Amino acid sequence: MNRERPPPSPERPRTLTILGATGSIGRSTLALVAERPELYRVETLTAGSNAALLAELAIRHRARRAVLVDPAGWRTLSEALAGTGIEATAGPSALVEAASVPVDWVMAAIVGIAGLAPTLAALEHGAIVAIANKEALVSAGELVQEAARRAGAVLLPVDSEHNAIFQALGDAPKAAIERLILTASGGPFRTWSREAMERATPEQAVAHPNWSMGAKISVDSATMMNKGLEIIEAQRLFAVPDSRIEVLVHPQSIVHSLVAFTDGSLLAQLGAPDMRIPIAHTLGWPGRLASTAPRLDLAAAGRLDFEPPSEARFPALALARRALRQGGAAPTILNAANEVAVAAFLARRIGFLDIVRTIERVLESLPDRPIGSLDEVLACDREARRLAGELIAGGLARGR
Ligand code: NAD
Ligand code: MG
Repeated sequence: MNRERPPPSPERPRTLTILGATGSIGRSTLALVAERPELYRVETLTAGSNAALLAELAIRHRARRAVLVDPAGWRTLSEALAGTGIEATAGPSALVEAASVPVDWVMAAIVGIAGLAPTLAALEHGAIVAIANKEALVSAGELVQEAARRAGAVLLPVDSEHNAIFQALGDAPKAAIERLILTASGGPFRTWSREAMERATPEQAVAHPNWSMGAKISVDSATMMNKGLEIIEAQRLFAVPDSRIEVLVHPQSIVHSLVAFTDGSLLAQLGAPDMRIPIAHTLGWPGRLASTAPRLDLAAAGRLDFEPPSEARFPALALARRALRQGGAAPTILNAANEVAVAAFLARRIGFLDIVRTIERVLESLPDRPIGSLDEVLACDREARRLAGELIAGGLARGR
């Protein structure tokens, strides 16, 4: 990994692009940037469809450019930015174009496969790319790593577990890693029976006990598919085989993950459950950014609990592991079916347990196919989405 880059300083402020600026991660990133305006210059902010919020953020953070993916919001955006000197563009190709403009540092925080093409575009100019968009890594890990290698870009994990592992690994040689241990809060249904989960509502599923996040990842945490995706994400980021990636339930979300080394040492990163901490790590890297993110008071926390996950109550874990072992298109299919099923659950079209049932059915039904290029990944993603949509429309996911 390239460690030659200087940390941001008032003499050399970093130029930034934030993909997904209006989301939970995007806004946390901007909150940190606003604390240290002498260190950063905001180049581009992007959003899916919230034109009013995008314009507000672009003005507040003196961005040079604001990009909205949904062309329907173009008028609102351009009217809100009229006379500010901030360039406004809209549409999916405007997003990739803006992501291609060279900057020092990019936050990839679009949710879902929608973030893949702009993340690849950002990697291609060799930036430091802080990656929160785990779906891009799950669907197209090889493409993402390859783009980074080709351009000499630096990929810094934002996901709290992977950021913890990245910090704990330091410069240790690969051969010294015995296991990666991903901690999991267990989500809002950690202690629920399958019968109770069958009736779980979207409101209950998005009410995470420790973290405040976007709706999709909150539902993923409730099914524990989030941890399944994170096993795949860890394999993509650290090139450790899945047999050496473990999951440990830790309800307090204080130990963010651990690395077990061959000498018997376990190194962990701890902190308050607040995404500003891993984000600050990537903003300051290779230095450390001083921020006002909440401090962890271990005496007040009092205790740290750990337990193995229940694969019987949370079948998403084994399903994701199976997809990773199967390789090829399976992780891409898993991710696409999950995105569709989570959206259907949030729209109350299927029940909570139907999410994993749908993914299982889609994975069983689709044959492997090549996913060597971006077009092939996106074609595979579309095919899995189509089938998941059909299964849901036909009520077929309820294979009971
Ligand atoms: P969010 O829903 O709050 O925000 C998503 C952002 O993506 C918004 O800016 C939205 O406008 C944009 N977006 C949505 N659909 C789009 C599309 N089709 N095209 C372009 N832009 C689009 O999500 P979030 O919670 O901030 O999560 C973002 C990513 O970070 C996800 O991949 C998630 O898994 C990951 N992540 C989030 C957290 C967290 O605490 N929120 C923690 C770890 C990882
Ligand atoms: Mg995480």
